[in-house]
Amino acid sequence: MIIVLRPDAAPEAAQQILERIEAAGLKPLHMPGSERVVLGALGDERVLAELQLESDPRVESVKPILAPYKLVSRELHPHDTIVRIGGMAIGGGRFEVIAGPCAVENREQLRNTAVAVKAAGASGLRAGAYKPRTSPYGFAGHGPAGLKLLREVGDETGLPVITEVMDTADLDIIVNHADALQIGARNMQNFALLRAVGKTRLPVVLKRGMSAKIEELLLAAEYLLAAGNEQVVVVERGIRTFETATRNTLDLNAIPYIKQKTHLPVLVDPSHGTGIRDFVAPMALAAAACGADGLLIEVHENPAVALSDGAQSLYPHQFEALMATLRPVVKAVGREL
Ligand code: PEP
Ligand code: MN
Repeated sequence: MIIVLRPDAAPEAAQQILERIEAAGLKPLHMPGSERVVLGALGDERVLAELQLESDPRVESVKPILAPYKLVSRELHPHDTIVRIGGMAIGGGRFEVIAGPCAVENREQLRNTAVAVKAAGASGLRAGAYKPRTSPYGFAGHGPAGLKLLREVGDETGLPVITEVMDTADLDIIVNHADALQIGARNMQNFALLRAVGKTRLPVVLKRGMSAKIEELLLAAEYLLAAGNEQVVVVERGIRTFETATRNTLDLNAIPYIKQKTHLPVLVDPSHGTGIRDFVAPMALAAAACGADGLLIEVHENPAVALSDGAQSLYPHQFEALMATLRPVVKAVGREL
């Protein structure tokens, strides 16, 4: 519920009403605005109804939050959230590009790729030390050794590093090495992981599950916010449809939808969204045009020998060309790259 106080309500009214909400076992929220004090109450709406706040003379209106997700909803929080990862400000009118190889393979591969993407204008480095693989025989990442390399290369290049966490057991070591945590498509509804990551203070890059509805993605984000972490970026990375020509179907409808329904920023991952190198650049341009706050792109110094996702990874010169073609598109939609 959203509770708007009357403009003439005494300053202590907000605190007193919040205490009543909390005493009823609901989660109280305080959102002081420039004109009106707005309060929130999350939990069982029948309990809230019993409080009869609409008959409190200090209350102007009580309205339900219609969306199933509450903290993530624009109804409760109309202004855009800006997620800061290192020097990046995702969601604040800038267009941020995070790039890197699918996996940390070795120091040279990671460093060469990082130096190339930075020179081309990327502002974040993303690479996996823990990789979810469909086959148990696939390269699953170097784990702690990969994290160490990622941290070193991040420090050397000045790029903030983002890496995937798949298991709560690895969370501490990953938190100690990374600037932001990725939750991958396969774990979007791993609720124990969402709760644990929500308790950290690192920004989170949450990818849409391959068969998840947008509402389910936003409810997964709600878990992170409900656990206390508001620095959440959601990612459209393509979904499974009847179409098999491409690895996934990149759902760009999701971008204006997410921007309308939530205050969280949204990135597009055209690498996993298409699975095919040649389609990454056109879909990256489309993502910028339809209002995404940035991109996640896989780049490898030599995709032909990549240990994972080589077919969708750009060569460094292709990434550089993409950044050059992106600039006028980003500018045309009123953003800065
Ligand atoms: C990845 O980012 O390399 C990855 C495994 O992505 P997703 O979780 O979207 O499949
Ligand atoms: Mn990948």
